[in-house]
Amino acid sequence: MITAIYPGSFDPVTLGHLNIIRRAAKLFDQVVVCVMPNAGKRPMFSLTERVDFISRTVARFPNVRADSSDILLAEYAKNFEKSVIVKGLRAVSDFENEFQMALINNKINEQLDTVFLSAGERYMFLSSSAVKEIARYGADLRAFVPCEILDDVARRAKELRD
Ligand code: ADP
Repeated sequence: MITAIYPGSFDPVTLGHLNIIRRAAKLFDQVVVCVMPNAGKRPMFSLTERVDFISRTVARFPNVRADSSDILLAEYAKNFEKSVIVKGLRAVSDFENEFQMALINNKINEQLDTVFLSAGERYMFLSSSAVKEIARYGADLRAFVPCEILDDVARRAKELRD
């Protein structure tokens, strides 16, 4: 049984993330989408909210679940019998950072490999930061975030605007 761990900040989960989740769910026995607090970023949504958004979005996939962790990913991976890290690559700009992380994780836990999936063509441009930016202007988010969380994202953006 191979578990794919898909880590990120998911602030919030986007259709780009969902595209990677859907494809990983076909490739691996189980997918755990793991929300990691990102010390460098000030989030729009709490860790609990982000996990809840993902849980609602992936409810349709029987082999996918959401979790969160504030320990080193290479340590977290030891919770599973066999695991790989899954990452989405949008453009060359993602590559350097992701490649560095993959090497570091493998250095800390040499059982742990990282598998890269290319971003879905339609979602190459999509990032959580872009979603937050356009949400602040009250724009229609249907092309960017899963329908299960549309209202929550729009509501929070409005609260921050008012
Ligand atoms: P973001 O960069 O949108 O803030 P995260 O930090 O939550 O996203 O990223 C988690 C993972 O998802 C990373 O591997 C990132 O490269 C990947 N990812 C983010 N957006 C997309 C997308 N639109 N298509 C494919 N992969 C993506």
